[in-house]
Amino acid sequence: MLLRDATLVDVAGIRGGDLRVADGRIEGVGDLEPGGDEAVVDLRGRTVLPGLVDAHVHFSLSGERTVGDVVGMSDAELALVEARNARKTLEAGVTGARVMGARDVDVHVRDRIATGDIPGPQTVANCRSITATGGHGHHLGREITGDDDARRAVREQAARGADFIKFMVTGGVTTPGSDPGAVALTDAEVEAIVDEAHRRGLHTATHAHGTDGVKAAVAAGVDTVEHGTLLDDEAIDMLVSEDVTLVPTLSAPHHIVRNVDAVTEEDRTQTEAVYERHLDSFRRAVDAGVRVAGGTDAGTPFNMHGANAAEVRFMSEHGLEPFDAIVAMTATAAEAVGLDGQGTLDPGTHADLLVLESDPTEDVTALHDPGVVLKAGAVVAGGDVRTKRALADASDDH
Ligand SMILES: [Zn+2]
Repeated sequence: MLLRDATLVDVAGIRGGDLRVADGRIEGVGDLEPGGDEAVVDLRGRTVLPGLVDAHVHFSLSGERTVGDVVGMSDAELALVEARNARKTLEAGVTGARVMGARDVDVHVRDRIATGDIPGPQTVANCRSITATGGHGHHLGREITGDDDARRAVREQAARGADFIKFMVTGGVTTPGSDPGAVALTDAEVEAIVDEAHRRGLHTATHAHGTDGVKAAVAAGVDTVEHGTLLDDEAIDMLVSEDVTLVPTLSAPHHIVRNVDAVTEEDRTQTEAVYERHLDSFRRAVDAGVRVAGGTDAGTPFNMHGANAAEVRFMSEHGLEPFDAIVAMTATAAEAVGLDGQGTLDPGTHADLLVLESDPTEDVTALHDPGVVLKAGAVVAGGDVRTKRALADASDDH
């Protein structure tokens, strides 16, 4: 089918044009003429962009105030919850996601999305995030002590089908007793995790609040730094010089700060203390030219699945231009997490698209309610009934 006369927005820029979609992929982009029996959908006045790619979500969590409720679930219950959250994520216009795993459930959810058994974004997943014994996220993670154990933990995840390895180089906001500012793993452990992952062709992501943890992970060769809450200038310089991607997850503290009455006292104190410094770290990283990928940390307290597009707004309010914030949560995120064929309108990529009734580079809140969400060229969600019907009819005819 031919999508005609839309405003096209992706990393290549903002321009008018047509898109040809065939067999679930983008086949052409530019000024195109319809084939003899090709279905044509007039999208004049509409904006088409790639589906969002969320570089950091937790399908296992659903915005609970603590992880206690989740820890008590069986794996079967957890899988059902994850399937629901995957569907919500897709319906919000997120067509690609990197999912931070709990136990070993997420790789199965990823596979069932890929086979079409459950709806969800194209997903890359890990299994259990690696953490120091008793450290951040240990309830659902893989606790390690020592560099041999670190290598063993990576090999276990690789054997179970992980696409990447996540580790907790510092404590966290939501794990009682862990200190977000302190480094939780030894240099030898961090080096072993990154080295072993890279030997197996897996990229590495580190949860990191304190600046010393960021430096330790970057020095070891980590690929993405999650949160980057308390960055000093040296850490920012290292992110630039070592070509590491920052996933700032501004949604996470935003929601906790706004629900301070309801969270635990320890969460509240820690979060308020770090929120302003987090925003300041993000601004300075952007000014220094750090590469940023959009990720929400959806599932953390009050940070609900389906509100993912708000991360684009937060990034644009605190340092990035709106266009750059959109690129951060499409092309840059896709590349950072290894989702090939996602995040751009290039021919050959998946026809995972959003059709919006206004231009999100003028007002990023246009992303909050996509008119149509397409995955592999098929309509899967959206509130613009007329355009949805036209696209559904056209893709039936193809
Ligand atoms: Zn997270």
